[in-house]
Amino acid sequence: MAAVHIAGHPALDFIGTLSERGSKDVEELRQPQDLMQWFIDADVVDRPEQATEHDLAAARTLRASLFRALESWKRGEGVPDEHRLALNTASTSGQPRITMQPDQSIVREGTAQQCLGAIAASFLQLIASTDPSQVRWCADRTCTHPFIDRSRAQRRRWCEMKSCGTRNKQRELRARKTD
Ligand SMILES: [Zn+2]
Repeated sequence: MAAVHIAGHPALDFIGTLSERGSKDVEELRQPQDLMQWFIDADVVDRPEQATEHDLAAARTLRASLFRALESWKRGEGVPDEHRLALNTASTSGQPRITMQPDQSIVREGTAQQCLGAIAASFLQLIASTDPSQVRWCADRTCTHPFIDRSRAQRRRWCEMKSCGTRNKQRELRARKTD
């Protein structure tokens, strides 16, 4: 399955690699290769190094901390120390290396840990520079994806129109008919 990049921010998309938390727990990062492919698709790195099962486990742990931190931040509560420190550890443990090649192309190379560092750092930048009301949870009952609403009207409800939006509009239509 191709990774989906719809949330308007890489850290929010990364949180969205697990869907339907607490119900179906649909996992997009099933094996180490999925993780590195995700980083390429998310434009975090061009030449990733091989990831291991250990990297995959670390990625899922960081993702859980990002999710909890986002929840707390959105509620206006402090991010619990456990998750705050996990984000700090990741964000200070390196970033992909960026260099200019002999052919003048710019290439980013990195390990899974460095890519996770970039995600954690970008999340911290996001919450430093964004109003919590602009980052929202998909209005679908089970989806659990966050996104940034960059629309002028600020009325975006769904992480993705063609999945959650369509499903819910059909549901609303059916409910109206049976009323
Ligand atoms: Zn959704």
